[in-house]
Amino acid sequence: MSTLAFDIDTARKETPGCETVVHLNNAGASLMPQPVLDSVIGHLQLEARIGGYEAAAAAAEAVDGVYHSAARLLGCSTAEIAVVDSATRAWDLAFYSIPFRHGDRILTSEAEYASNFIAYLQVAERYGVRIDVVPNDESGQLSVAHLREMIDERVRLVSLTHVPTNGGLVNPAVEVGRVAREAGVLYLLDACQSAGQLPLDVNEIGCDMLSLTGRKYLRGPRGTGLLYVRAARLSELRPPMLDLHAATWVSRTGYRMRDDARRFESWECNYAAKIGLGTAIDYALGWGIDAIRARVTGLAEDLRDRLSELPGVRVRDIGAQRCGIVSCTVDALPADAVKATMAERGINVSVSRAPSTRWDMEARGLAEVVRVSVHYYNTVDEVEMFCRALGDAVLRSGR
Ligand SMILES: *Cc1c(COP(=O)(O)O)cnc(C)c1O
Repeated sequence: MSTLAFDIDTARKETPGCETVVHLNNAGASLMPQPVLDSVIGHLQLEARIGGYEAAAAAAEAVDGVYHSAARLLGCSTAEIAVVDSATRAWDLAFYSIPFRHGDRILTSEAEYASNFIAYLQVAERYGVRIDVVPNDESGQLSVAHLREMIDERVRLVSLTHVPTNGGLVNPAVEVGRVAREAGVLYLLDACQSAGQLPLDVNEIGCDMLSLTGRKYLRGPRGTGLLYVRAARLSELRPPMLDLHAATWVSRTGYRMRDDARRFESWECNYAAKIGLGTAIDYALGWGIDAIRARVTGLAEDLRDRLSELPGVRVRDIGAQRCGIVSCTVDALPADAVKATMAERGINVSVSRAPSTRWDMEARGLAEVVRVSVHYYNTVDEVEMFCRALGDAVLRSGR
């Protein structure tokens, strides 16, 4: 198995949290590796020692490096990157910059994340835009055939969640990109859960905008996110807010926007976190995203196999292609009880509820699932430990 090729000892040695927890909540926030921790704390200490502005100037090279790292991760140019404080903020900045008109249509997926769908609903209300959800195919991924049929001249945007917050699914981002490109329609990809566990090449995918977070599979600090905007699309989009970083006040009656994607940024930011995000991207690229994918998907498949052998436990994952996020329900136990029982044993898992991915959860008659998300630094031993603990909990609940 390809997971054997991974230098797991080094990965764990460089992850201080591995000594204290069995962390299976990587889709929530991964454990930061030591180099990320060092760069964040190092910059904070520099700020404390010499001053915040002075520290930013001293670290200019590292700050600039974040754009180069992001461009390498996504296969784009540095001018197409904005660094912001979350994936949601990145996604919102892209979405709310689209000049929607009455009668426009948005095509989206059943796997859509709540924050995205709430924004569709607000824009629908505000501009009279129609939201159409493309049905899934029999495997559970967005049906590309249906998408193709639903495209017409009124479609303004195709907006897709690559990997939903639960459910294991990987949506066919590249195939969707082909359809969007042929139709000349804007394509926004929420890559929040895929970044760091799956390769993302914006030109292969064909997306015009892409958002991701730092804290999930990229193992960066909290409060970081990235927005990619294709240079050729920049002039069609109207940033919903501008400040003196995004634009220059050139006369009493005029301003000029920056000519790159940083027009979506704000002047103030958390420099320590921003530098830490760059370190996290470099660290991930150092392991190699293909190697990470092989390790993560291998561990997740192993976990699904073991879970499906436990009586009263049902794996709830769908899709033709799967990732490191595993979801299950336990007949005899509410998801919160599973989470609490695991926490007592030093195992972190999380709970996803219907309002996070309403279309998907309702279609499958699910109110909640236990989400168990593995990363490359997790081990088969940890997977076994979790399954044994879950098996015990099921047995005890039966008495
Ligand atoms: C977590 C998540 C987000 C939000 O990311 P933040 O960094 O918390 O804003 C967006 N989309 C999906 C699919 C997610 O799972």
